[in-house]
Amino acid sequence: MTTYHSTRNAEKTLTASQAILQGIAPDGGLYVPDHIPALDIALDRLADMTYQELAYEVMKNFFDDFTEEELKHCVNAAYDDKFDDSTIVPLVKAGGHHYLELFHGPTIAFKDMALSILPHLLTTSAKKNGSTKEIVILTATSGDTGKAALVGFADVPNTRIIVFYPKNGVSAIQEKQMVTQKGDNTSVVAIDGNFDDAQTNVKNMFGNADLAARLDEAGFQFSSANSINIGRLIPQVVYYVYAYGQMVKQGAIAAGEPMNVVVPTGNFGNILAAYFAKQMGLPIQKLIIASNENKVLVDFFETGAYDRNRDFILTTSPSMDILVSSNLERLLYLMADESTEAVQTFMDQLKEIGRYEVTEAMKEKAKDFYADYATEEEVAAQIAALYHADGYVIDPHTAVAAHVANTYVAETDDHTPIIIASTASPYKFPQAVLNAIDPEFSDDSMEEMLDRLKELSGVAFPAAIEELLHAEVRHNTVVASDEMQKSVESILGLN
Ligand SMILES: *Cc1c(COP(=O)(O)O)cnc(C)c1O
Repeated sequence: MTTYHSTRNAEKTLTASQAILQGIAPDGGLYVPDHIPALDIALDRLADMTYQELAYEVMKNFFDDFTEEELKHCVNAAYDDKFDDSTIVPLVKAGGHHYLELFHGPTIAFKDMALSILPHLLTTSAKKNGSTKEIVILTATSGDTGKAALVGFADVPNTRIIVFYPKNGVSAIQEKQMVTQKGDNTSVVAIDGNFDDAQTNVKNMFGNADLAARLDEAGFQFSSANSINIGRLIPQVVYYVYAYGQMVKQGAIAAGEPMNVVVPTGNFGNILAAYFAKQMGLPIQKLIIASNENKVLVDFFETGAYDRNRDFILTTSPSMDILVSSNLERLLYLMADESTEAVQTFMDQLKEIGRYEVTEAMKEKAKDFYADYATEEEVAAQIAALYHADGYVIDPHTAVAAHVANTYVAETDDHTPIIIASTASPYKFPQAVLNAIDPEFSDDSMEEMLDRLKELSGVAFPAAIEELLHAEVRHNTVVASDEMQKSVESILGLN
């Protein structure tokens, strides 16, 4: 049996479904499994299994209070023809590395991998625990998470979703994707304020006891689709196991041989999932963290000091513009030999002075990780170089990883085959991609940019882009940031 407890206190244990329902522990900690179950499939069998089969096999040991029928239902409802590739995550060789394309879901970014299954895990968890309340997902987004959560929860029975985004803080494509969202249970609200305002007010609503009581009375219960939910982390372990099988199938490695993974990193969820896969027994040798100019993690792995006291830099890879990587807390717990006291102390220091420093012994525990970063110039050069060498177009987040992959090989002379997590379609960031490979191109209407990108890449528009060009705007509410709670009350009809 796998049980879960907070990274900050191990006394209270929960089942998987309870941890998924709660999202975050009441003490502010993140739920971690009491052990990482071993992968119970032979490595030479992985190549012959479908994504859905593997998803079930990997998750059943983590979510072991779900019945086989429940978990298979969640898997099959998530990984279906919402994905525009029947393999779900194609593995493409280009520029000497393998790109694991995690962007074939409905919003063309990798958040779909977890957010297409989370609604089903959540509603199943509610049922299992006897809750009859309607689940209200409240989310603040800086772009990608909001849309992926909207698509995931749209028309899922017994759920509502309300997304807040900063009116002037998301890209044109991201905004259009959100305000055209269909589904009777979806609400999208722009705020006059920045992402921090949105995030702070959402957190305040989660912590508001009076509001909770009124929600309860009206038959609602808040929940979170944030990336710290264990129901988002574990589904991400699956694609590393799947990718390993595909590497074997494509002849890049023999079953049992190691591979390295490079992951463009923000909140540390994706790379942590790769680490879990390694702990399960998948032969991953190095876990390579790729940061953009917000390189707080690179400094941490180099010096042992995590220090958020620095400028926040806006880059062309906005989903990685982040100074506090929430999921790092789960690695910290493992680095500290599972000491919840140590984690609590570090997190207190982070809150109070914005900084903490781990011991040499703790640092030693993370030696499977390697971290480096790419500057904005290096990102653009990488996009152009891969395009000119192989005709393969990647988005700026993926380009951060490609650059770091090449630095790693040059620096270490380690030629273990590399998988790069490709986290967004270039169609999601047409401006940055065109600036890199066709700087002469000057028409900046969205339609023109998308057409030019199609010409250059030879890749047809994904359904998400087709839809976007013709979709009707369905949400146009803008509120002041201090009116967010009022807005929620009115959407839910509270009085
Ligand atoms: C969220 C996101 C990332 C960062 O992933 P983490 O799990 O937060 O480290 C990278 N690239 C894209 C496109 C994303 O949307």
